[in-house]
Formats: sequence, structure tokens, C-alpha cells
Amino acid sequence: MRLSRYFLPVLKENPAEAQIVSHRYMLRAGMIKQESAGIYAWLPLGYKVLARLEKIVHEEQQRAGHIPLLMPTLQSADLWRESGRYDDYGAEMLRIKDRHERDMLYGPTNEEMITDIFRTYVRSYKDLPLTLYHIQWKFRDELRPRFGVMRGREFLMKDGYNFDLTKEDALHAYNRHMVTYLRTFERMGLTAIPMRADSGPIGGDDTHEFLVLANTGESEVFYDEAVTDLKLGDRKVNFDNRDEVAEICREFTTLYARTDETHDAALFDQIPEERRKVGRGIEVGQIFYFGTKYSEPMGATVQTAEGTQVPVEMGSHGIGVSRLIGALIEANHDDKGIIWPEGVTPFHVGIVNLKQGDAEADAACENIHDSLIALGLDPLYDDRDERAGGKFATMDLIGLPWRITVGPRGLKNGVVELTSRRTGVSEEMTPADAIARIA
Ligand code: ATP
Ligand code: MG
Ligand code: MG
Ligand code: MG
Repeated sequence: MRLSRYFLPVLKENPAEAQIVSHRYMLRAGMIKQESAGIYAWLPLGYKVLARLEKIVHEEQQRAGHIPLLMPTLQSADLWRESGRYDDYGAEMLRIKDRHERDMLYGPTNEEMITDIFRTYVRSYKDLPLTLYHIQWKFRDELRPRFGVMRGREFLMKDGYNFDLTKEDALHAYNRHMVTYLRTFERMGLTAIPMRADSGPIGGDDTHEFLVLANTGESEVFYDEAVTDLKLGDRKVNFDNRDEVAEICREFTTLYARTDETHDAALFDQIPEERRKVGRGIEVGQIFYFGTKYSEPMGATVQTAEGTQVPVEMGSHGIGVSRLIGALIEANHDDKGIIWPEGVTPFHVGIVNLKQGDAEADAACENIHDSLIALGLDPLYDDRDERAGGKFATMDLIGLPWRITVGPRGLKNGVVELTSRRTGVSEEMTPADAIARIA
């Protein structure tokens, strides 16, 4: 992409309304524009990151055999009356009337709708297990929308729902989700710690939240520092093997890690003092097992092998896809701007032409740009007629992991400069070597 033809409305000034760094940088880097309190337009750069995150989420869900579908944002109130949550959900639910005075709502979550889909088609235990998920916009009329996309009113969530015959099967689905989430967040370059949590309005028995440690997080967290060293890495997981999946969950949930809602001071005090940590965290996901909480009132039953009818065992599992962008920036930035982890960066590399209009520099930049694209990479070429300082500031702000700087002086010696955004280290090398290093 050539920057002269792109739409990247960067701001020079710090927006006064942004209280935390991720919100400030998302506005300054031209990623989002606020349309109303807690409601954002995703400008091209922000939209690109969102799409990268969605892709990772899809891949990791499907690797575990979970099936994507897409449910609407608007729901009928009647479904929620069946589960009993229409009145319980309170002011966070945006309620709407259509022209026929029918009660509708903008979905804050989809347990009722997916249970209705399930009961419409599935009759037999032979069709289980089944896990369906979607990535769709949600609306919650948060009392205090703030921190940009971190606590929006409209936000993008991946929500998945498992349907199983027995509690044991449903707990396997719960564990499967835990492992897929570990991998998902790791691929994004985040350390997200599963913490025992409280179930809130979703209800249920078993639940873990995934928290990214950050001073600006809204949850208070208590943990054994050793949990931050756990890594799933690239080990292969057979998601059909219950013991293997359960063992990974044990590995990641045995050390103490809890939010203030479930914190147990006596247990916490048993951790060696130097590893006992109190901090703050951003909730980027949560998994729930809730058994028959929805299937029973909504009549989602299946026939067993013995011919009896039983309500199906369920759980639900959410990832805050749009919130993750805020969390990623909170965890990856410096005073010049964002520092994207490689797995989620909107462009892989920026190309800065120090002397636009110089035939040799222009040709070298074009060449590097096209070669990177041929390798399947996504470069952003700053081909504007601007001072070098301004170009560097923009690249630093938008945080691409690599920058290739091209100027007539270097080209005389056959070299360009390759700079790592994270380390700030620059090295001179031939264009071919710079390309090889990135690819
Ligand atoms: P919170 O405690 O932050 O209000 P929640 O527990 O109400 O979140 P869940 O119902 O567990 O949220 O939804 C799943 C995920 O959706 C959360 O883990 C979070 O990452 C994301 N999420 C929830 N509310 C918002 C919001 N207002 N803005 C952005 N993301 C959100
Ligand atoms: Mg909430
Ligand atoms: Mg919560
Ligand atoms: Mg939650």
C-alpha cells in the first residue's frame, strides 16, 4: 500500500478525551473515530488489526472443531422472556421497538438465540457434541463507557456455545475452550492468564476469566508470579483427547491466580512471598460451564440412547475481540507510539523514502515494496513528499514491527537501513538482505 493513496488520518495533538495510552494512540494513529459515547467507526488501520485478530480467533476455534455461523445483532425479546433474562438483564440491555410495537433488543450476548437454533434442529444425542460460535457486534449500554474500545457500548465479541449430552462432555468442551484461548492470546503476542472468576449474569458453576496484566486494567488480580512464565508454545494438541486437554488446563490453572471476586487471602498467603503478586488486569475473555441453565427453561432436549429426553448440557465462551486491541496496545507501546507484535500488526513493514522524487530512491522503494508483496507480506510505503522526521514519527506512532529506510546516500553504497520498532536497533544492509530478514 502506498501511503499517498491510503486513508490514515493521524493526529498530531493528544486528544483530550483519552485517559489511557491505548485510547490515545488509537485515536492519534487514525484507527478509530468516536461516533457516540462508546461507539466507534473503525478506520482502515484499526479495521485491519481487527481483521487480523478475527482471523486468529477463527483459526484457533476451527482447529478444535468448533463451527462458525453468524447470528443477527437484533433479537426478539420473546426469546429472553423464555429464559427469564429479559427482566433480569437490566439497563445494560438496549431495548428497541419495531414499527409493529414488537419488543426487540440489540444482543448483549447470544445464549437464548443459539439455544433456540439448537432446539429447532437437533433432536438426538447422535448429533452431539456440537460447538457453534460467531464473531459479531454486541451492544451493552455500559454505565460508564470509557477507555475507548476497552469498554465500548458496541463491541466485537467472539462467542461460542457448546452442546453436550453429559456434564463430563460439557467439561471437556470447557477445557477445549481454555486451550484454544491460551493459543489464541499467545499467537497475538499477549500473556493472558486464566483466573478463577465469578459467573455474573451469564450464570453457572465453573468459570475462568483470561486477564492481561496492565496497570490500567479494571480488575484487581492476585497471582503467583510463576503463572506468567507458562507457555503453550507450538505443542500439538489433540482436541479429542480429554486427558491431554485436561492436563494442559491443570498445568495452567494450578498455580494461584484469581480476581478480587474469588480471591482467598488464606490460600494466597501460602505462596512464597517473593512470588505473591497483586496487580491489575484487563479481562479479554471468559469461559463458562452452566449445564442446563438455558436448555431446561427453553426446552432444548435430546433423545438419549435409552430413548429418554434430557436437557442438553451447555457452556458459553467469549473473547472481547475489539477490547483486545486496547489490551494489546496497553501491553505494547512506548512514548512514541504503538509497538505491534508481529502476529497482529496491520502492515508487516513500513518503507520510508527519504527523498521522494529522486529517481533512484523512488525506484528502490518501488522495488522493495513489490518484492515484499510478492512474498505475501503487507508493506506500507510512505511515498509522500514530506520531511524524514515526519515520516519517522508516523511510522513510530502506528508501530509497524519493521522499517526500511531508503535514501540516495545509502543507495550509493548499495544499502538501506532496517530498523526494529521494538528494539530501536538499526542496521545497514542490501535491500535483498533487508527483505530476507523480514520474510
Ligand atoms: P466486563 O467485566 O469487562 O464488564 P463482562 O464480564 O461483562 O466484561 P462477558 O460477558 O464475559 O463480559 O463477555 C465476554 C468478553 O467480551 C469479555 O471478556 C470482554 O473481553 C468483552 N467485553 C465485555 N464487555 C465489553 C465492553 N463493554 N467493551 C468491550 N469488550 C467487552
Ligand atoms: Mg460487563
Ligand atoms: Mg467481567
Ligand atoms: Mg466476563
